Amino acid sequence: MAYDSNNVFAMILRGDIPCDKVYEDEFALSFKDINAQAPVHVLVIPKGEYVSMADFSVNASAEEMTGFFRAVGETARELGLEDDGYRLIANTGANAHQEVPHLHFHILAGRKLGPMLSR
Ligand code: 5GP
Repeated sequence: MAYDSNNVFAMILRGDIPCDKVYEDEFALSFKDINAQAPVHVLVIPKGEYVSMADFSVNASAEEMTGFFRAVGETARELGLEDDGYRLIANTGANAHQEVPHLHFHILAGRKLGPMLSR
């Protein structure tokens, strides 16, 4: 699947539309999900143009991968989530209901989250 540079997260990265920023570095941007599913619901996206984990895991450089995964952990750390815990979700493709075709990790926290899958 080719990268669509008009997807909503590409627009956020370009500053074309606003976001509620939580963390940013050279490799990644973290911001609050517009439709929070938990008291804490933050998205972490790489700055590079990767459709999904399938794309990123093959085509990203080692530096981009390291930078991105450090940013996921750093975002959770700065949000103070390490003591009580948090859940990471990266929906990939149709069966997982990936809506936005730019790789993103959801960080969910702030309450006991229940079973991993609702059904
Ligand atoms: P997916 O289903 O692709 O894993 O998750 C996409 C997520 O992006 C959803 O949780 C949705 O609420 C969030 N989202 C979609 N559009 C926007 C937006 O314009 N701003 C923000 N902050 N989140 C968005």
